[in-house]
Amino acid sequence: MPIPRLIPTALAVLLFASPAVAQDAPGWSFAIHGGAGVIERASLTPDQDVAYRAALHRALEAGSAVLASGGTAMDAVQAAIQLMEDDPLFNAGRGAVFTAAGRNELDAAVMNGADLTAGAVAGLTTTRHPIAAARAVMEQSPHVMLIGQGADSFAASVGLEQVAPSFFFTERRWQGLETALRAQNLPIPERPAGVPAAPAPGAMAEVAPPLNERKFGTVGAVALDSQGHLAAGTSTGGMTAKRWGRVGDVPVIGAGTYASNRDGCAVSATGDGEFYIRASVARDICGRIQAGATGQAAGQAEVEDALLLGGSGGVIVMDTAGRPAFALTTSGMYRGAVSSSAPARVAIYGDEALRP
Ligand code: ASP
Repeated sequence: MPIPRLIPTALAVLLFASPAVAQDAPGWSFAIHGGAGVIERASLTPDQDVAYRAALHRALEAGSAVLASGGTAMDAVQAAIQLMEDDPLFNAGRGAVFTAAGRNELDAAVMNGADLTAGAVAGLTTTRHPIAAARAVMEQSPHVMLIGQGADSFAASVGLEQVAPSFFFTERRWQGLETALRAQNLPIPERPAGVPAAPAPGAMAEVAPPLNERKFGTVGAVALDSQGHLAAGTSTGGMTAKRWGRVGDVPVIGAGTYASNRDGCAVSATGDGEFYIRASVARDICGRIQAGATGQAAGQAEVEDALLLGGSGGVIVMDTAGRPAFALTTSGMYRGAVSSSAPARVAIYGDEALRP
């Protein structure tokens, strides 16, 4: 388009350049993670590699279906996380890791960037979708965080599906628990009521190739919707063999989960929760972005700060321009992104770029 003579050049650049920038900027954008840890090419079988990538694509698809039809960032976050909670590959919902006492105790949180509303739950044992419970706390209670039996009762009272604790059981995580307890010289609890009998020795490889893991598979999502609003959510079973009602960073707003339109960020973290709490990882990333850092630089600085304290892990960050960022101090993080201007892409290993 010719620039009318009367408009000074600098103003013309502003007037005519900004629509081009706006065209490049995605109308909506979405990113997910499925946990960070020692995930190397040698630690996954080819089948597991394929299965994780397919699961990440399904979650991206769930989120993008919401956002592409004009849905909210919070709806997209919940849709993707619920899918991953139901997927036994991830340490959230079904497939969560076990406490030392042989239970699944589930934590989750959500936050809306538009008005800084937030909801969190910890230690759920019967609510099928902890992320839905966290959202219900935010929208249907005067509180921000509910724990334990009270949180499950609240979830039931607002109509969220309740299941027997055995619903969350997977043999792979149980074997992971036994390995962790043996290493710590702790007693191995009875298998939970209502779960299949223990596989015969040697049959485990057929059930699922054992992953050398302690906590992989926390799930999270961050979204920018077409209204320009940001949201974040995270869901986890926590750490294998956790004790004494341990709660990690995930449901601690500002540690594992945070979103703020004003600061221009949505963050979901995964990693050694104790250190992520102490480093206020998610809130600090937003502070850094508010002060002018890119999502990538802010995320990287913060995960490195947590590493200095002794905790490894990773974060996903979304900014108000719809740019997803991934930062990690581990060898891998299950992750993916999709937007109105870019197809779904996923990655697992730290040195790998996102690809379709
Ligand atoms: N951050 C989670 C927790 O500490 C665990 C993880 O992300 O792997 O509970």
